Amino acid sequence: MTASTAASTAASTGASSASAAGTAAALRSGFHEELRDYRLLCSKAGGVTVILLVLMGVALDYVVYPDEQVRFALVRLATSVLIGLAVLTLYTQAGRRHVQFITFGWLLLPQIMIAWMIYATQGEGSVFYAGLMLTIFAVGILFPSGYWQTLAYGMATVLLYFIACEAHAGGIQDRSQFFFQLIIIFFCALASAIYTFFNEKGRFQLFRLKEELASKNEELARTNESLAQIKGQLLQQEKMAAVGTLAAGLLHEVNNPVNFCLMAIEVALEEPQARENPSLQECLVDARQGMQRIQHIVSDLKIFAYRKPGAEVEGRPFLFEKALDSASRLTAHELRGVQMSRELPADTLVYGDEAAIIGVLINLFSNAALAMRKAGTEAPAIHASASWKDGRLHVQVRDNGPGIAREHLARVFEPFFTTREVGQGLGLGLSISYAVIERHGGVLFADSEPGQWAAFRFDLPPAE
Ligand code: ADP
Repeated sequence: MTASTAASTAASTGASSASAAGTAAALRSGFHEELRDYRLLCSKAGGVTVILLVLMGVALDYVVYPDEQVRFALVRLATSVLIGLAVLTLYTQAGRRHVQFITFGWLLLPQIMIAWMIYATQGEGSVFYAGLMLTIFAVGILFPSGYWQTLAYGMATVLLYFIACEAHAGGIQDRSQFFFQLIIIFFCALASAIYTFFNEKGRFQLFRLKEELASKNEELARTNESLAQIKGQLLQQEKMAAVGTLAAGLLHEVNNPVNFCLMAIEVALEEPQARENPSLQECLVDARQGMQRIQHIVSDLKIFAYRKPGAEVEGRPFLFEKALDSASRLTAHELRGVQMSRELPADTLVYGDEAAIIGVLINLFSNAALAMRKAGTEAPAIHASASWKDGRLHVQVRDNGPGIAREHLARVFEPFFTTREVGQGLGLGLSISYAVIERHGGVLFADSEPGQWAAFRFDLPPAE
């Protein structure tokens, strides 16, 4: 390995690991954002559930401590109101930002309430310690909190239980029962924290898979789009090849008879009978015009007959900007009232057949002007833009006219396809333009939003 390849390999490895780290960081931040929304939802729904459970606890008070019924009911009510207020703050901007902190705070309220009940009744002799354990498990399973948070919650509960039993009148009397229950609560806290750890890992994996699936779907959509474009191009090339064969045969068969017809008409026009007879002369002039029209169509078809896809175009370097100027000048009459704008790069030096490219632009401009005039477009405008991409100049001509109907879009490059009235358009303009761009190694595309705009795109080779 040479020094330069080694250096470039090291640089590319460094760059790829940096980009991988960037992707992982973006993934993490996306995950945390989604998690925040999920936490918000859980905190709101969990808050309502806990309020219900706290209030329904009056049934337990009735069974275990019927004498304390009223006092406990009031404490339960006060706890529920506090939880409700905390949940309400989650509907504010600040509340949404501090969702984790607020949730942790209100989740401690039922634990404080139960601890107080233990303190006010039998200390370690109270069966209400089971309520503390139940809450720890419920938090670990239902709430998307972090494992440190769940562990801290469990430890806070252990502390509350200790204070409740110690502060109870007479202190801790049955030490073995107290320690047994304290250790059980501690185990619950530990199990809940471990469960949360794996829960969070699983949630992140799920999120990663979801993101991967979304990016794969996007990739697939892009591949499908480019496949559809390639299919369209192949179809168009096949159509052009068929037209080329037809045109070559037609040229051969039509050119000769047209030429000798024209010669015969010229000779006939020189005859004394024709000179003396004005109506005969008029007939012959009409016949000559008809034949000349056929000659023009035949000469237009030559471009299809002798096209060689992939062959280098014979031309010279020219400035695309100048070609655009010429095309605008030559169509100035048709473009009256149309606002023309352009956006070009500083350098537009391309290689090719300048006259043919001017012809393509004239065709695109006059088609747009005609379509906009026919549709009565308000503030008609044509925007020509170009930019360099992959070493070729990509040009776009876009108008704000009526656009092209979906069913016509795939047919506009077909020779003789036209929506103009009979005798007004031959339908050869775009198919000839397509062949011209093809000779330059490019492709002519049409795109449109019917009722809003039509755009034609093509690309040209650079001058060198
Ligand atoms: P012609 O102009 O003789 O009809 P073309 O090959 O130049 O032949 O165009 C074929 C058809 O494409 C037109 O008849 C028209 O329906 C459609 N077309 C081309 N350009 C536009 C445009 N800018 N807006 C709307 N329709 C267009």
